[in-house]
Amino acid sequence: MRRKLVAGNWKMHGNHKANADLLAAIVAARPFGCDVAVCVPFPYLSETAVTLTGTDVRWGAQDCSAHEQGAYTGEVSIGMLAEFGCRHVIVGHSERRQYHHESDQLVADKAKAALARGVTPIVCVGETLAERDTGQTEVVVKRQLSAVIHTLGHCAGEMVVAYEPVWAIGTGRTATPEQAQAVHALLRAQLQAATAHAADMKILYGGSVKPDNAATLFAQPDIDGGLIGGASLKAADFVAICRAA
Ligand code: PGA
Repeated sequence: MRRKLVAGNWKMHGNHKANADLLAAIVAARPFGCDVAVCVPFPYLSETAVTLTGTDVRWGAQDCSAHEQGAYTGEVSIGMLAEFGCRHVIVGHSERRQYHHESDQLVADKAKAALARGVTPIVCVGETLAERDTGQTEVVVKRQLSAVIHTLGHCAGEMVVAYEPVWAIGTGRTATPEQAQAVHALLRAQLQAATAHAADMKILYGGSVKPDNAATLFAQPDIDGGLIGGASLKAADFVAICRAA
């Protein structure tokens, strides 16, 4: 049985006071029956690490550079994230693909850099509304995942995948459990063709997961938890979603 993972994606939200309150509430609500992580903005990694060290709540970042080090102004390396104890890093979030023009190959290179330093990448894939409406969902998510599978090679089984339909992110419009499961099953089959570990790999669902829809989503056979945006900023909601996993 795959253990579920619920990861909060704080995006560009937070401040010292709000973070402290949120983390304290998560810590106080343990134990959870699933793995729990928070992916926080870079400047807050240090305080997050201090607060969560010694607990079973993991922390991570929302992006990283594909480069080890060098003249890349504004970038943050995986080595730096590893020094701050990050267990996870989100790569290929649709907001990075869309606003920062990240290609499938760049996302794959970031995932490879992360694994090389022992940080588990949460690799996001997902189609836009236009792509879904024109029947391209399968082609798009397979193309996105294929780049990562090929680049990671024999390490592909070590990543976490997150299916996040772009039209469901921050819109309040969730994929139905059946719609999500259908894509998760496709992704699992694609992983199965590439790695012997596919049955053990986590495929998270993300996109307007809330306390009232989390349990039915997480009950689907190939949905192994969630990547939670908006609801991860409200302690009561995030805790309720963790409890649903
Ligand atoms: P949302 O975001 O839960 O606010 O829809 C999910 C994500 O973008 O990871």
